[in-house]
Amino acid sequence: MAKVDLQDFLKANGLSMTTQRQLILDELENYAGHLTADQIFHRIRKVMPKISFGTVYRNLAVLVDLELVLKHNFGGDISYYEKFKPVHHHILCTECSKVEDLKGVKIAELEPEIENLTSYKVSTHHLIVTGICPKCRTKEVEIRVE
Ligand SMILES: [Zn+2]
Ligand SMILES: [Zn+2]
Repeated sequence: MAKVDLQDFLKANGLSMTTQRQLILDELENYAGHLTADQIFHRIRKVMPKISFGTVYRNLAVLVDLELVLKHNFGGDISYYEKFKPVHHHILCTECSKVEDLKGVKIAELEPEIENLTSYKVSTHHLIVTGICPKCRTKEVEIRVE
């Protein structure tokens, strides 16, 4: 969504595009990944040193309500935010808590099989795979070698 469109969109929802909200969106757009509220706060503080965690958190909640930002919770205490995208799947590192999109895996092809097995009509799905990311696996090998 272009910046101008976004302003109109927010206005239509009775909200204004505050600098904070724009910064949060820009940050998520530029990072193109999944960040925790805390990580977003630290990034925003670099450009807006006086901003509080509460302000970032409240603005994130507004952006989630407007479906401009997605909030994910994968069963742990940590919530992850990313710029809104259609339904997709995730892989989570259990060592460093990094989350990435699971690309190229054809989960939708499992739908007919799931419907056959359960007699449900599948409407949506969200798969979360956990594992150890390449970076953390390298660290594990180093520790073992020492
Ligand atoms: Zn990791
Ligand atoms: Zn994602």
